[in-house]
Amino acid sequence: ALMITDECINCDVCEPECPNGAISQGPEIYVIDPSLCTECVGHYNEPQCQQVCPVDCIPLDPERKETQEELQQKYLRISATA
Ligand code: SF4
Ligand code: SF4
Repeated sequence: ALMITDECINCDVCEPECPNGAISQGPEIYVIDPSLCTECVGHYNEPQCQQVCPVDCIPLDPERKETQEELQQKYLRISATA
């Protein structure tokens, strides 16, 4: 999963781009729900939020590294319940 750092300027550009609805406005900055972020696997070749963020504050979450396989599984789980 990706994460949003405190460099976030609350511009709201990323939220509508997420195909999994993983991004929302938190108490101070935008946040990513790691249980919903597939790094865009299943939808796009590139993480869409990273593509649009004007301040480049959406890195890979080092605490939540996942393989392509795991991301694909998560995508399948999410689409089954959606
Ligand atoms: Fe959503 Fe994709 Fe960004 Fe994850 S990488 S938060 S799935 S847009
Ligand atoms: Fe924050 Fe970047 Fe999303 Fe804008 S696009 S709300 S700066 S994370």
